[in-house]
Amino acid sequence: MRLWRRKRGLNSEPPFLRGAGGILYNKPADAEIKNPVFVPADALEGALKQFFGYDRFRPGQREIIAAALAGRDVLAIMPTGAGKSICFQLPALLKPGLTVVVSPLIALMQDQVDALVDNGIGATFLNSSLDRETARSRQEAILQGEIKLLYVAPERLMGEVFLGFLDQVRSRHGISGFAIDEAHCVSEWGHDFRPEYRQLQTLRRRYPDVPMYAFTATATERVQQDILHQLRLQNPHRHLASFNRPNLYYEVRKREKQSYGQLLQAIRAQKGGSGIIYCFSRRKVEEVAGRLQGDRIPALPYHAGMSNDQRSENQNRFIRDDVQIIVATIAFGMGINKPDVRFVFHYQLPRNLEGYYQEAGRAGRDGEPANCVLFYNPSDIHSIEYLIDQKPDEQEQRIARQQLSQVVDYAEGIECRRTIQLSYFGEMFPGNCQGCDNCCNPVPLEDWTVEAQKFLSCVARCQQRFGMNHIIDVLRGSKNERVKKYGHDSLSTHGIGKNRSVDQWKLLGRSLLHQGLVSETSNGFRVLFLNDKSWEILRRQRKVTIAVPRRITGKAGTRENERAMVAELLFEELRTLRKQIADEQGVPPYVVFADSSLRAMAQQQPRTLGAFAQIPGVGEAKLKRYGSLFLARIEELAQSQIPASEQLSPPQTPELSALGSNTQQLTLQLYQKGLNIAEIAAQRDLRPTTIIGHLGDLIEQGADIDIDRLVSPEHQAVILDYLTQYGEDSLTLMRDRLGEDYTFDELRLVRGKWRQRL
Ligand code: ADP
Ligand code: ZN
Repeated sequence: MRLWRRKRGLNSEPPFLRGAGGILYNKPADAEIKNPVFVPADALEGALKQFFGYDRFRPGQREIIAAALAGRDVLAIMPTGAGKSICFQLPALLKPGLTVVVSPLIALMQDQVDALVDNGIGATFLNSSLDRETARSRQEAILQGEIKLLYVAPERLMGEVFLGFLDQVRSRHGISGFAIDEAHCVSEWGHDFRPEYRQLQTLRRRYPDVPMYAFTATATERVQQDILHQLRLQNPHRHLASFNRPNLYYEVRKREKQSYGQLLQAIRAQKGGSGIIYCFSRRKVEEVAGRLQGDRIPALPYHAGMSNDQRSENQNRFIRDDVQIIVATIAFGMGINKPDVRFVFHYQLPRNLEGYYQEAGRAGRDGEPANCVLFYNPSDIHSIEYLIDQKPDEQEQRIARQQLSQVVDYAEGIECRRTIQLSYFGEMFPGNCQGCDNCCNPVPLEDWTVEAQKFLSCVARCQQRFGMNHIIDVLRGSKNERVKKYGHDSLSTHGIGKNRSVDQWKLLGRSLLHQGLVSETSNGFRVLFLNDKSWEILRRQRKVTIAVPRRITGKAGTRENERAMVAELLFEELRTLRKQIADEQGVPPYVVFADSSLRAMAQQQPRTLGAFAQIPGVGEAKLKRYGSLFLARIEELAQSQIPASEQLSPPQTPELSALGSNTQQLTLQLYQKGLNIAEIAAQRDLRPTTIIGHLGDLIEQGADIDIDRLVSPEHQAVILDYLTQYGEDSLTLMRDRLGEDYTFDELRLVRGKWRQRL
């Protein structure tokens, strides 16, 4: 199939519009159906792959495109990143004539047009930034039929001269549609009213048979009605998508005292992906950006106190991946369509939930996973309340207070974060999203009444004169000096708490304190004493539930980890290549390839052009333009990607090579060279527990490993005794019984040895 390129005139139709199944026809226009185009159902997917390189439509896209091809008006309300552009771009390519796209932001036009041209599609824009000559030659290209999509600002569109030009285009080639982007701008009820948009209704009067498609990401019912009315849409196909953004992970973290360090760590954990950090004030923006630069994190500030030039320069450098991070007040973001923002952090509490949703929503427009973290400290509430108090109008104050309490509920809530957010937009969401901290790590509540009774009665028996550590010693049956000195080893509560670890008792003790179920002196000694509620518990009149955090679950298998690491490395390399190409062409990197395409390349590592064409995001134009460049880089890396540790000579002993996986053998070689666990972990870039896991498995399989280097003979003896006596238990249970002196690593290694003897 040949490409529908802008070089080709309009005289030949795209191939899939001709031939057996695909007949192109125009029905006489009635009021609602304007110039329908018939495209066989299965040809739409083909066109999507050919022009944009995608295999499947996202929810809603296909129906909108079908409606547009059928000549209907469209009103589509879809959240950021849902993929609105393709909904008017594909019909524009499939229909004869020119589609005019009305877009309010000049910077965005440039990027969208760049992206289309990079896909081999005839597209251009006209706005006030162009000199006369350029504008004229672009108009000429349009009249020649070389252009399928024309982007214009609304004020330009409505001039009489321009409308005259459009009349010419209509009579030569036809106008296939008007796409109105950011359609909420027509409404005074929207958050971004633009009076120029009001004049768009003239278009409907002048070109009644041209369908009109309205797109927006933010619309209340009120705004929707306004769009319908203002643009005079006629029985449009309506698409109202859920506002859920499934690829975003929402999390709230308690902002600690050393909050900058916490932020820095969180940024480093993002491994170089692009990110936005929102702060409350300009001062904070400057401070954070400065400190990050000091820590060699490429970051720039953005706030309303800076000059226009400085702001747009910083914004551009962010969009073009010259810097990783933009630190900004809420002045930043409207109309930024950088698709590959991988994280949005709120360093301080936002003022309301809608704002939070929109700001966090700037992450992951490309549909790839992205993180939205709110760093929350209750002290933020006071700062916002202070600002609210400054407002002159009482009604305004009341609204602001309510908004504040909603966003605080969000930050402190223990339910699904999505449920809370979406309910704010009147959308019911059942929860259990598996994409927020509360769903992924629900804090389970457990009934610990019996333990609380043991704990409190021990406090009573010790005469309410001791602190928590001593109480726990007595409960766990310790015979240390202090316990003996006070004769507490003869108390009835001595040793009744052996079934729980020290940490578990501490968890209970703290929780009792936080819940006010026991008291402590504030004289610096923190002596525990009973209060009324404590007595209710002891009299069995009150139950005690405490939140028991789950243990952090281990990572997936190590071999998968290593594969993932290699893919990660390759991804970084491909990103560098993408940046080079983008800089040469003067376009943002995402115009060349989306993150998702690079990720697929890194995972699948295609070696042929055929395989490369299968990568999502690789259409015909990109295959030709970039295929061999990227293939060469992938090949080059494949040669050198074997990590240093794997370049060790393979194990010599034949019986040894039969043991364990490759990765375990590498660990073994390093261990036998005399490296300790930490050194092996560092060299292999794995976690120490993974290394211990390797050694444990190897021991079990009979490898000759000197375990004395890792576990003292006394401990080995005790653990082996335990196993012989009780048999194999879970490591947790073993450790609970043996006590904290025995580490999980020791237990795991000795268990390996014991298993091998069986
Ligand atoms: P919106 O305008 O709704 O915020 P865009 O039109 O900018 O979203 O699309 C967001 C991203 O999703 C872009 O990178 C786009 O190329 C990509 N995209 C759109 N449709 C699809 C699809 N069907 N499959 C994969 N990616 C898509
Ligand atoms: Zn959730």
